[in-house]
Amino acid sequence: MTAKIAINGYGTIGKRVADAVAAQDDMRVVGVAKARPDFEAKMAIRKGFALYAANPDAGTKFEKAGVKVSGALDDLARAADLVVDCTPEDSGYKPLYEKAGIKAIWQGGEEHSLTNLSFNAAANYEECLGAKFVRVPSCNTTGLIRTLYPLDDQLGVTDVLAVMVRRATDPGDSKKGPINAVEPELEMPSHHGPDVQSVLPKLNIHTIALKVPTTIMHVHALAVDLKRATTEDAVLDVWKRFPRVAFVSGADGVRSTAQIMELARDLSRNRADLYEIAVWRDGVHVTGGKRLFYFQAVHQESDVVPENIDAIRSMLEIQKDGRKSMEKTDQSLGIGIVK
Ligand code: NAD
Repeated sequence: MTAKIAINGYGTIGKRVADAVAAQDDMRVVGVAKARPDFEAKMAIRKGFALYAANPDAGTKFEKAGVKVSGALDDLARAADLVVDCTPEDSGYKPLYEKAGIKAIWQGGEEHSLTNLSFNAAANYEECLGAKFVRVPSCNTTGLIRTLYPLDDQLGVTDVLAVMVRRATDPGDSKKGPINAVEPELEMPSHHGPDVQSVLPKLNIHTIALKVPTTIMHVHALAVDLKRATTEDAVLDVWKRFPRVAFVSGADGVRSTAQIMELARDLSRNRADLYEIAVWRDGVHVTGGKRLFYFQAVHQESDVVPENIDAIRSMLEIQKDGRKSMEKTDQSLGIGIVK
């Protein structure tokens, strides 16, 4: 069976999820829905995706702009097995999906309470098998879980402090800032800690966040207290056993997010995306055996993309084994070659 997947919201995340679905042999894109007939809508058609108007009244707006739509979102929902909702937060499509009797995945802008099930392929693939509604947490939360889940699983974590230096906005956005300021998030903890706990409820984590004027990546500085004594090499070995963690090295000249994204461009992947979380190998330090410090960088536009593909396989029970799903996804997207 080839699963029929709809994408609602074709922006930063939606267009990447659409391309990733199209790269699988066990699912296909039946259509993408957009609210506006902008350049991204036109690009969806050029790529061969059937385009639908997210709002039935918007059909005329599309027609006037000379953009051909195949119908409205209701039509698309009826034609699909599952919709990946990549619209901005609180767009409010749950009743429409419920009416169409369709499964749905939302992104990290939504609250955990929308689905009561948040997904990370390594941590809880099996828990989401057959689920109707699932949320893939944000880029930052996914990034934290990617490295913390393996540590907790293999070495035991008693306590985490994560300081998160967040990009101001995405490269394709010229509206948001800051453009010449550093903006601390005054809420304490930042929402990321509780969000990590939506997948790893027992993890004792505290997060502090600041926004800075960059668009390419987030950087996290972490201090982790471990239950079992370890070494730097043993920590690197733990991460090597889990998918979607890549290593970079200051000694190789990768001193900042600029070089990480240059390396990503050199990989010649779709859109120069880096789906893995990049950990600085020579930024990993263990003191007293049980206290670990490390730095990681998150390509916010793409790290959640493979998780969306695995969430589809889990919810539609196309593959019951999470490891096998991750391997298939990673092979299709070229993940795993930076180790
Ligand atoms: P975006 O603004 O880049 O794209 C949103 C898309 O939805 C656009 O195509 C827009 O035209 C369309 N849209 C807007 N209103 C709509 C509506 N009412 N109905 C249908 N389509 C509508 O947003 P994004 O960055 O892709 O974010 C989408 C979701 O993914 C959010 O929950 C966000 O928090 C989450 N997310 C974003 C990032 C990131 O770094 N950009 C990372 C991880 C998760």
